[in-house]
Amino acid sequence: MNYQPKLDMASAGFHQAEALVRWIHPDLGFISPEEFIFLAEQSGQITELTRHILRRVANDAGKWHAAGLNIGVAINLSALDLTRPELAKEVAEAFSQWQLPMSSITLEVTESALMEEPETAFETLRRLRQLGVTLSVDDFGTGYSSLSQLRNLPVQELKIDKSFVLRLNTEPQDQLIVRSTIDMAHGLGLRVVAEGIENAESWALLRDWGCEIGQGYFLSRPVAAGDLKETEQSLTDRQQELRYAGETTS
Ligand code: C2E
Ligand code: MG
Ligand code: MG
Repeated sequence: MNYQPKLDMASAGFHQAEALVRWIHPDLGFISPEEFIFLAEQSGQITELTRHILRRVANDAGKWHAAGLNIGVAINLSALDLTRPELAKEVAEAFSQWQLPMSSITLEVTESALMEEPETAFETLRRLRQLGVTLSVDDFGTGYSSLSQLRNLPVQELKIDKSFVLRLNTEPQDQLIVRSTIDMAHGLGLRVVAEGIENAESWALLRDWGCEIGQGYFLSRPVAAGDLKETEQSLTDRQQELRYAGETTS
């Protein structure tokens, strides 16, 4: 697993790390998770993979906590995971030793996953929610988003897809979309996360528009669990710079 920091945009504080699975094949080298997650879904191995990921992340996080790095984790779920209401039990088991509030564990699900079998997915989400974990809609804006459905989902967070964020500093249309999405999400009582922040200008725009959480290469690339403490240090060193990025002194 690799872990990518998610920062609180107002304070520029390190808030949580998103777990991103990696597979380095001995012959083929790096294989994109999008590719092998799809294969695992097709072959029926996703259930076992997700179980493994949950346990592995809980274990890695336990080590940071022991080292004094008290941040939460975000974990991606696949569409098929949501068709199994017993998933909530597996999450509870994997995180039975969790020391922080359960709300510091975020589960990210995509819009399309929610549309596949809406009723079962809804039931799984409801059970997960009863555990007290935070639920997030990942890649928002790319699926067949039904806004009426969004209103009824038991989610607390909306994660704007990186395709709207990567060129935010130069694309007026992306700016319009992102800004309206933030306002809409806030109107629905949801917290907003932006992924794919690659430069200071985009970071400053999002912060000024009230986006709560930011993630992207500008802040940090995904890193190995053992490197997270060092990443925390470099983010702390940059905290003032990030807090005041884009502000003029006059
Ligand atoms: P995602 O959950 O939307 O994750 C964000 C992806 O954007 C990650 O790609 C991350 O490395 C990349 N990213 C982050 N910041 C930037 C940036 O500033 N610029 C650019 N260009 N990219 C950025 P990654 O790790 O290749 O993962 C791709 C997708 O694979 C994830 O999208 C998620 O849908 C899926 N995935 C990854 N790990 C898992 C997992 O453990 N379980 C499941 N079910 N799916 C996973
Ligand atoms: Mg994600
Ligand atoms: Mg995404």
